[in-house]
Amino acid sequence: MFDTILIANRGEIACRVIRTARRMGIRTVAVHSDADAKAMHVQMADEAVCIGPAPVGDSYLRGDAILEVAKRTGAQAIHPGYGFLSENAGFAAACAEAGVVFIGPPIEAIRVMGSKAESKRLMANADVPLVPGYHGQAQDFATLSAEAARIGFPVLVKASAGGGGKGMRVVRSAEELADAVAGAQREAKAAFGDDSLLLEKYLSRPRHVEIQVFCDTHGNGVYLFERDCSIQRRHQKVIEEAPAPNLPDDLRRRMGEAAVAAAKAVNYVGAGTVEFLYEDGGFYFIEMNTRLQVEHPVTEKITGLDLVEWQLRVAAGAELPLRQEQLTRKGHAFEARLYAEDPQREFLPAIGTLTRLRPPAESDHVRVDTGVREGDAVTMYYDPMIAKLIVWDEDRDAALRRLRGALAAYEVVGVTTNIGFLGAIASHPAFRAVEIDTGFIERHRADLLPPPAPASNTALSAAALAVLLRRRAEAQAALRARSDRHSPWLLANGWRLNEETHYDLSLIDGETARAVTLHFRSDGYEIAVDGGPAQPATGVTFDDGALTISLGGARLRATVVQQGLDLTVLIDGVATRLKLDDPSARAAEQEGGSGRLSAPMPGTVVRVLVEVGQSVEAGTPLMLLEAMKMEHTIKAPAAGVVSALNFAAGDQVAEGVDLLVLDIAEG
Ligand code: ADP
Repeated sequence: MFDTILIANRGEIACRVIRTARRMGIRTVAVHSDADAKAMHVQMADEAVCIGPAPVGDSYLRGDAILEVAKRTGAQAIHPGYGFLSENAGFAAACAEAGVVFIGPPIEAIRVMGSKAESKRLMANADVPLVPGYHGQAQDFATLSAEAARIGFPVLVKASAGGGGKGMRVVRSAEELADAVAGAQREAKAAFGDDSLLLEKYLSRPRHVEIQVFCDTHGNGVYLFERDCSIQRRHQKVIEEAPAPNLPDDLRRRMGEAAVAAAKAVNYVGAGTVEFLYEDGGFYFIEMNTRLQVEHPVTEKITGLDLVEWQLRVAAGAELPLRQEQLTRKGHAFEARLYAEDPQREFLPAIGTLTRLRPPAESDHVRVDTGVREGDAVTMYYDPMIAKLIVWDEDRDAALRRLRGALAAYEVVGVTTNIGFLGAIASHPAFRAVEIDTGFIERHRADLLPPPAPASNTALSAAALAVLLRRRAEAQAALRARSDRHSPWLLANGWRLNEETHYDLSLIDGETARAVTLHFRSDGYEIAVDGGPAQPATGVTFDDGALTISLGGARLRATVVQQGLDLTVLIDGVATRLKLDDPSARAAEQEGGSGRLSAPMPGTVVRVLVEVGQSVEAGTPLMLLEAMKMEHTIKAPAAGVVSALNFAAGDQVAEGVDLLVLDIAEG
């Protein structure tokens, strides 16, 4: 076995590989870009080396720089993860030349399977069933149009070198073909530097069922069952599950055997995935991915195996740990891909700082594969995936319940996410009833992506209560800290705790101002929204953003995060964004912060003006921050003692992180 491996990737997959390596006692070397200097994978690895600037072409795709690091750090093998260099035959060849093991299949297998057309020609010879189509070398339009007519419309035009749905076009009639071919060629040329196309019969309601295969260098090959990845958006996977529900056992076996035959036909070694479309009891090869797949954890959950461990063993020359007849599966697993993206805006990637990131607790039932922590940024440079949420239980219904529960508990604030959308899929009756195929999301679009609705009264009530409780805590801290009755801390809030019987708050919901009134009662509050009937709110607790109340008799748990005037309310995985329409808060904000010692925006620490243990007066400057090309002074909100400094001059800080801790003096 290797002593040291290098992971030529970032994010969750790099972290996931490191975890297994560490468990096996293997030293890990991470590579990273400038932008990732403090990333989770860098922190987790035993050693980390910067390989260039943020753009992937200058860092993560630089095979030469990565091999240089491998040599320098004594790494005997390179795990490429998925994406980046994982299916790059040129990089695999360069590894071989440099005497470093590429943890993946032989170069020739990568090359052949990298071409959808060439792999199909080979599969046809190995008697693996194919979608009817054309995958010949002739690419002139006369040939393509004659073949399309022979196949029968609708046909799917695909880039032979394709991946990620690029260069793919559905063509419904002969008239549309010329445009589609020209468009697909342009896209394929730009994305892959190769414009050859193939044609396939466009199946109307297929399921995507793929087989996980594994081969070693001793001629053994097995399949680790299948995954159903039919829940797709624009031909890209959103939720995956294993096993494929309602798949007859004999078909499962036949598909598994066909997949192993496919792998053997290219002398495959290591982990691979053979993808099929499954329709009306028939299955058809579409392509093979010669790497570890994003969705491999669902296979791990049902088999109890660690596929990265298998990859490492096989790459080190060992035999497969188990034979086909020793492989068993148990229960059902789902994976949901959590993205920083906006489902309401055509799933546009969202960037920003993860000001709050609290995954559900991990257990035998819940696994979270992530590469980011609270305070990290989702940037425009890389894939905006936040995490993969994997759940397992004894059967599909129970696992689906786990998925809904874990999605509802997942707290992400700071960027827009697809959690609500994933929750809507997991709750959809057709998904529960296994009425699934690759058209699922499109067909149920109206249910899954309802138009934005006004904020619920519940969310508004929770937001208002949280604002009140936070201000009250701040005011009390300030009261304790200063006997000065003219303190702006007491005046700025514009309300007095003991004298007033209610509290009015205006919250901006989209474009609309919503009015919330909180009446103080001996046992709690009554809350009225937009002048409607007041609801009793009792049993209120608010700690670290977590609010629990009994509202109108129903127990409610919400997370409310405030940043300046922005409020995010999370209830059961649904995020509501509001803005505080409050003149006093606005004034406080303009004064340079309401005294919280967190960074008001992403920036750089210019100077630290105090030391740990130092006593400061209210108003003493503590830190200088440069953000958006402006200097910003962080001042003490009250007299106290500096008890921790979390950053030093020169450090980059993300929005909302705590810069330092000030123990407010009593009295
Ligand atoms: P890519 O490599 O670009 O992801 P694939 O060939 O793997 O492309 O196909 C991705 C998805 O596109 C499949 O999971 C399926 O949903 C859809 N698809 C591919 N081929 C067909 C086909 N012949 N008929 C219907 N849908 C297809």
